[in-house]
Amino acid sequence: MRPGTSRVRTVGELFERARAGDPRATGQLLSLVENPSDRLREAMELLARHAGHAATIGVTGAPGVGKSTLVAALVGAYRQVGSRVGVLAVDPSSPFTGGAVLGDRVRMQAHATDDAVFIRSMASRGHLGGLSWATPQALRVLDAVGFDVVVVETVGVGQSEVEIAGLADSTVVVLAPGLGDGIQAAKAGILEVGDVFVVNKSDRDGAGQVVRDLTAMLRLVPPGPHAWTPPVVRTVAHREEGIDALVVELRRHRDWLTTSGGLAERRRWQAREEVEALAQAEFLATARSVLGEAGVSDLADAVVRGALDPYTAADRLVQAAYRAQHAASSTPYGDGSALVL
Ligand code: GDP
Repeated sequence: MRPGTSRVRTVGELFERARAGDPRATGQLLSLVENPSDRLREAMELLARHAGHAATIGVTGAPGVGKSTLVAALVGAYRQVGSRVGVLAVDPSSPFTGGAVLGDRVRMQAHATDDAVFIRSMASRGHLGGLSWATPQALRVLDAVGFDVVVVETVGVGQSEVEIAGLADSTVVVLAPGLGDGIQAAKAGILEVGDVFVVNKSDRDGAGQVVRDLTAMLRLVPPGPHAWTPPVVRTVAHREEGIDALVVELRRHRDWLTTSGGLAERRRWQAREEVEALAQAEFLATARSVLGEAGVSDLADAVVRGALDPYTAADRLVQAAYRAQHAASSTPYGDGSALVL
């Protein structure tokens, strides 16, 4: 093989190298998730047997509250105790993906040369249902290749990141003093999803007020199942203050999840969401492959014109997908293996 060329590795080889700590192999496995190919299923089959060990942490909050700074500090704290840490920075509003948006940022530089830290930016709504589809798969990749902690950082600007934050075992909602942060949190519905709240920029005026407002608002949220009371942690992320307290609260939450049975419950719920999202995406892709984009557009046009009602149009999609499956094989799952549980 000439220097500079690299042969395509099998999924098994990639997996072994990634588990041994090769960041390039990890990156290539993640690319399989972001740009699905025939190898995706092979990868997912292999990964399924190894995933489920990582502590997954979602970090969300409005732009500018200090999420990236906080995540960098958190990574540092986990590294100090010898954990391998993966970070997925998910930006639902960005069209870029697969690059190193976060990794390029100055505050993550401290970890840039550390092979026990892997950082990946994911963006936008891509193929097959977008983020809600790709993010859990990417999480699974990092989990399966042996990262002890996986942090998913998302910008809190709408509903999608609430969903994404919900993919993690523990969700950290970050606020900071400044224009109506508390109110924003309540509006976006993130009060309900937070397992641990962080009031960052506690060096700034108004931090105490945010803590008071937040605590008052949290009292209004009905207690979750098994009564976990979300703690509020004050941090100054760029000086790494309060990070140890955050790590302690995250550990406490994880212990609580494990002992209360909440972890198993969450994982079951997450798996169900994931399976349904995949089935839906697969189904629509099949229907589209039969009708073509033009065919689907024709159905939409017919609904706009009033020639078809939306239910009848949807029936046509469903029928198209069924027809395609029957044409592909006499049963939807040729060898029957997928039906054996
Ligand atoms: P993100 O958009 O939520 O990821 O926020 P960033 O991590 O990019 O931080 C936004 C700005 O706030 C940056 O200039 C940080 O240096 C600054 N910052 C982060 N944490 C703190 C903090 O605790 N106190 C102060 N005063 N500034 C902070």
